[in-house]
Order: sequence, then structure tokens, then C-alpha cells
Amino acid sequence: MSREPAFRPRVPRLIVVGSGIAGLYASLLAVDSGASVVLLTKGELNESNTWYAQGGISAVLDRPAPGDTIAAHVQDTLQAGAGHCDAAAVQVLCTEARHDIAGLQRFGAHFDIAGDGGPALGLEAAHSAPRILHAGGDATGARIAAALIRSVLARQADGKITLLSGAQATALRLSSGRVDGVEYLRDGRQHTLMGDALLLATGGAGQVFAQTTNPAVATADGLALAVRAGAAVADLEFFQFHPTCLAQEGRVQEGGVQEGWAEEAGATRDTNNGLNGEPLLISEAVRGEGAVLVDAGGRRFMTAYHRDAELAPRDVVSRSIALHLAKLGDPNGHVYLDARVIEQAKGPGFLARRFPTLTRRILDAGFDWTRDLVPVAPAAHYWMGGVVTDLLGRTTVPGLYAAGEVACTGVQGANRLASNSLLEGLVFGRRAVESFLFGGSDWGAPGGAPPRTPHDPPNLASSADEGLAPSELFPSNTAAEPGVSAGSTAASSDGGKEVFSREALRRLMTAKAGVLRSGKLLTEAAETLDRWTAVVHPDAVPAGNADPVGHEDRNLLLAARLLVAAALDRTESLGAHYRSDEPEEAYALRPKASLVRD
Ligand SMILES: Cc1cc2nc3c(=O)[nH]c(=O)nc-3n(C[C@H](O)[C@H](O)[C@H](O)COP(=O)(O)OP(=O)(O)OC[C@H]3O[C@@H](n4cnc5c(N)ncnc54)[C@H](O)[C@@H]3O)c2cc1C
Repeated sequence: MSREPAFRPRVPRLIVVGSGIAGLYASLLAVDSGASVVLLTKGELNESNTWYAQGGISAVLDRPAPGDTIAAHVQDTLQAGAGHCDAAAVQVLCTEARHDIAGLQRFGAHFDIAGDGGPALGLEAAHSAPRILHAGGDATGARIAAALIRSVLARQADGKITLLSGAQATALRLSSGRVDGVEYLRDGRQHTLMGDALLLATGGAGQVFAQTTNPAVATADGLALAVRAGAAVADLEFFQFHPTCLAQEGRVQEGGVQEGWAEEAGATRDTNNGLNGEPLLISEAVRGEGAVLVDAGGRRFMTAYHRDAELAPRDVVSRSIALHLAKLGDPNGHVYLDARVIEQAKGPGFLARRFPTLTRRILDAGFDWTRDLVPVAPAAHYWMGGVVTDLLGRTTVPGLYAAGEVACTGVQGANRLASNSLLEGLVFGRRAVESFLFGGSDWGAPGGAPPRTPHDPPNLASSADEGLAPSELFPSNTAAEPGVSAGSTAASSDGGKEVFSREALRRLMTAKAGVLRSGKLLTEAAETLDRWTAVVHPDAVPAGNADPVGHEDRNLLLAARLLVAAALDRTESLGAHYRSDEPEEAYALRPKASLVRD
């Protein structure tokens, strides 16, 4: 194990893990305030969820759209969160948004301009006013990340920051209960880096599921590291799914079986996952133009699930697709988007003019959507839950901060409002740096706003009601078959006591803990996860393990266990967490999340 003397002496030393919006922005602020910063990231600097963000970033600026107010942004966020948000955190997010948009601009990020010379403000579902800033049309995340990366590289050239790409954090170091460093893998060797504090900005965990919009780096590492260090986590049952992500048949996610236990168990690498090359969201604007969803038999099915068919709210479309696939006995399968009808109705060339980027990317994936059906499936998109932090980004472990998607500040509640997540990474990343530099660096210590109350960690040992009530899935549904639940038809991926592999885990999670959940499905998932846990031991990091994929696999398994335990504990539907076995009367009384994802 080697040590890298990466910090400048006698100044506050901050380790930042992750180069998405939260990690990049926080690093820049810390460096410019005189701190010595080492930024570690697992792949290249641009490998992040941030890079893929399309829609934009929400903010009520100094000169908002007519009628828009911070109070309205707060209200929209609370409503999307289905009554589960932390109101104080939402107030901070919406009030301080304008400062951090200005901060982004100082680091070279520029937003699209309207005809009057002011920022072009987009309107998105469940926002009551146009307040979405975007860059390069639908390239917002890439433009923002590129600007921040340029600024970071400039500071590296000036010797002000140390960048370690290809550096995978594998464990947090603790001394007397305080985080004082990190262990990481780089170039096949293990290293240790010591600092005064560490900011986790490792993003999300879409790779827990077979279908995801997230890139390959989103393997729940930060959550797992924090849990092993004793940090509280919360809201893990709330995972947002996007209904129409390109399903790329025959393309395989790298990674999976870890040497050692898999060999021992006689496993072979599973190459039949079938989804997830470059993630590609197909925006609902395409359905807005008239595209319809059909199943493998060519049947249009959404009309049977909701009166608005393909234009139903996104969470309803996701659930309808999942239910339909479950009914067909193929819960890990996909349906098809038929955009040919648009071209037929609006004339040749319309799709390429209206959706140039999508047309190109779909062509790159091997489909000409003027002639072909495009395979799509609901995909894990955004994790509302995470490592509990207070309003200053402090976790429950001294010396450990978290910001961005890995954190649970409470702003996203049970369902995220579109375009609020990039903003969360900015606002709370900055607050974490302020706390580190200017005081109140420990959970609950003076120097900042009062911390949020951490939720109890989910009970890993809990189990749920076995029964599957024959409830209707959709309260507004007029034609879906009553009495059918996903649980009754979901294929068991574990009948033969399948051994652990990443692909098996991901298929299990999509089939039993994905868009549609029930006590029965979740209990089955928990049993399989427990069995794998007894072999893989994801609660601990084996000393000297230099296998990067193995670390990720352990993290995914740990995250999946925690997610399933939380989903079992919450027996009612709320926001993005949908329990098909909740009695219909109870469901009807619950606050519903609005409809929104980007
Ligand atoms: C397709 C898509 C579209 C989206 N559109 C929008 C949108 O329009 N508006 C919006 O607000 N949100 C959007 N989101 C969500 C938003 O992009 C993310 O929530 C946000 O970018 C998360 O930022 P982050 O900094 O927390 O993490 P990320 O951007 O995911 O960055 C995490 C970083 O941590 C690194 N990392 C992970 N593990 C380790 C490790 N063990 N060691 C070292 N480094 C590690 C990763 O390599 C990466 O660099 C979208 C997401 C996707 C996937």
C-alpha cells in the first residue's frame, strides 16, 4: 500500500470523491477559498450521471418568469416529493439556487439565451412556471460538466488541485470515530490518502437494476462506503424510474462475476443481460408527437391501462409497461416505441428535424426509427434516498460530508421534481465546503443550521407481509385486468438457487424490487440477497482486494439489500415507491407524486 503526498502543507485538506456536478463544483469552491484539495474519480473526469443530464437545472433567478417565485418553486418541489420532503432543505435549495447558478457561470458554464437576451427558461412537467435553465438544448449536463472540468484542469495546471482519475475509492479510513482518509485503487495497486475531511460525491446507483439510464460508474459505491463507516442512510425505497429508455438487445454491461466466490460456486460470466450500452432516454416529447407503445406482438397496450394511453403520467407509463411485461411473463423484457406513425402523419424528415440528437443516437444504436420499432423499457433513473446529511452536508460520521445524488438531504422526498438534482449537487456541495472551511464541521455541532433528524437505518432483518392482495394497479385505470399483480406473473430468477453475479443481482432487482413491488416479491428478493450475502459478505471490504469489479459488486449487493429492506418496511405506496399489494382504499388516500422526471 502506498501513500501519495498530494496535499499542500498547513492548509485545510479536503478529499473529494467523485467528478460529477457536486464534486467538481465543491472542489473548485474549496480550492478558490484556499483549501488543499485532492479530487479522486473512478474513471475519466467526464464519466458521471451529470454528463448525461438533458433537461436542465431549475432556479428562480433575480428576474424570474412572470409570476414565478421562490415560494412557487418550494411548493412544486414539496408536491412532487409526495409530502415526504424536508421542508427546511427545500427552502434552502430554492432560495439559494440563484447564488449557485451565478457560481456556475463564474466557472464558465453558460446557459441558452432567449430572444430578449436573458436566459431561456424552459417549462417542465410539475413546475408551475418556466424556470429550467438549459445549455446546448438537451446537452445541459455535458456543457456544465465540461465547463467545470476546464476550470478544474486550469487549477491543476497552476498546482492548486491534485486530480486522480482512474482512482476508485474502496474504503473510508476512520480514526477515533472520525473519517480522516480514504483507501483507493489505482493502476492495480491500493493507496491511502489522508485528509482533514472527505466529501462523498459519488452519485447514484442505477446499476443496481437491469435497466438504467445511468452510466456504468453508478454502482452505489459512496453509499456502501458510508454505511460501512457507520453513517445513517434514509429513503432508500424511493427510486425513480423513467419509462422509455432504449433497450439495447445483446449489449452487455462489463463486470459481473467476481473471481473467487464465483469460481468457488462454479459460476460462469453471464452475458445475457441484454440492456445497457450507452444509456439513452427517449424523451416523452416523442410520445407527445404521437409515437405509441406496442408489445412484442405488435399490440398497442397503453390504451388498456390509462385513459391518456401513452400520454399518461410518467410513473403510470412505467408501471403500465412493467405490468404488461409481467403479464407476458417477461419482467426483464422490453416493449417497442413506434415512431413510424409520426413520420406517416407529419411527412418524411419530420423526426430528424424535430429530434436531431435522438435521431442520430438511435441510428448509432442501429435503429432507423422512421422504419423500425425501437425497443424501450422502464429504467432506474434517480435515487432519492442516500446518506443522510444535514443542511450543511454533514453526515452522522464526523469528518464525512456527502452531496449530490449520493446524499439524502430530504429535498427530493419520495419523488424528485425534474431538474432539481443538478441544483441539489450545487447548493449542498457548496454548503458542505462552507461548513468544512468555516466551522461546524461535525453533525449537530454549532456553526450552521440545525441538522436534520436522521432516519433509522433500514432494518435488514425485517420481512413483510407474505400476502398479495388482488388490487387494481392503477386507481384511474379503466380497463386493466383486475386481480393481476406483477407478483403473480413475475418470473422467478432464483428457482434454481442462482449463484451471485452482477447480472443476476440486477435482474433480480428489476423483477422483484423495481417499478412494481409487493411484499411477496420483496420477500423473495430479500431471501436471495441474504443467501448471496452469506457468500459474498458485502458488509466488509476484504483486506488487499485489488479487484475493482469485485468492490463494485459488493457495493451493489449491499445497496440492493438496504433498498429491499427499506421497501419491505414501507408497506404503503408513496411517491416513486409503488406497492401493488396495498389495499386500494389506502392508496386512494395517499398523496400522489407528480409526474416528473427528466
Ligand atoms: C440520462 C439522465 C438524465 C438526467 N437529466 C437530468 C436533468 O435534466 N436535470 C437534473 O437536475 N438531473 C438530471 N439527471 C440526474 C442528475 O444528472 C444526477 O442526479 C446528478 O448529475 C448527480 O450528480 P452527482 O455529482 O451527485 O453525481 P454524478 O454526476 O453521478 O458523479 C458521480 C461521480 O463519482 C464517481 N465515483 C463513483 N464511485 C466512485 C468511487 N468508488 N471512487 C471514485 N469515484 C467514484 C463517478 O465516476 C462520477 O465521477 C439525469 C440523470 C440521467 C442519468
